[in-house]
Amino acid sequence: MGCIVVSVHDVAPPNLAAVRTLLSLLDRLGVRPRVLKVVPNFAGRWPLAESPELVRLLQAEVRSGSEVVLHGYTHRTAGSLQARWPTRLRARWFAAQDAEFLSLSPDEAERRLRAGLEQLRTVGLQAEGFCAPGWLAPAWLGPLLRALGFGYHVTMGSVHDLATGRRLLAPWFGSVGTGGLHEFLVHVGGTLGAGAARTPYPLVKVFFHPQSPRTWGPQLARLRRALRTRQVTTYRALLHG
Ligand SMILES: [Zn+2]
Repeated sequence: MGCIVVSVHDVAPPNLAAVRTLLSLLDRLGVRPRVLKVVPNFAGRWPLAESPELVRLLQAEVRSGSEVVLHGYTHRTAGSLQARWPTRLRARWFAAQDAEFLSLSPDEAERRLRAGLEQLRTVGLQAEGFCAPGWLAPAWLGPLLRALGFGYHVTMGSVHDLATGRRLLAPWFGSVGTGGLHEFLVHVGGTLGAGAARTPYPLVKVFFHPQSPRTWGPQLARLRRALRTRQVTTYRALLHG
């Protein structure tokens, strides 16, 4: 049986109510465990530790088998973009505000990754994996993540096992809630991913963004179909199972 990893992005205090709603909709489909992509200091204004309600929710999720993935530090672009042009263009067009890890020097990225792990640790959580906001990551990020002890790196189309170097390609479907061309392209990619979900391909991933409830319905319908032939898992279980 193929696997499916279901992720909720941008888990942070200002999105708490929507995250709760989304998780209860996933509960109705029996989607457990799931992956929670946590932003430890969203927009530089919402430290995780200052939202005890969200901390309790995450602790309960982890107790029931779900997995926390570190998802940037502030999720906000901090300076000029430093990537090479195809990635830089993608960031400018689609995620100008959210290209945090394309706007940092390696030293600053390391500082934020350490700070993010520390913020999780202070509330009793840990993350083995990292996913950059907008999936926008410079080429040097993988080695830095490995040096800091991360086990894997989630990119848009794959999961990179940092211990073995193995890359698992993962067709996907989901929504980003941005509207416009970006949403359209995600829709096209998602149509391919939903098609792949009906094949024996071993891994498919699904992502939801709490900020855009109007985009959840079609993805939940696709997910319901995929669950007929796929087993829900987490990245950690997938890489170590
Ligand atoms: Zn995000």
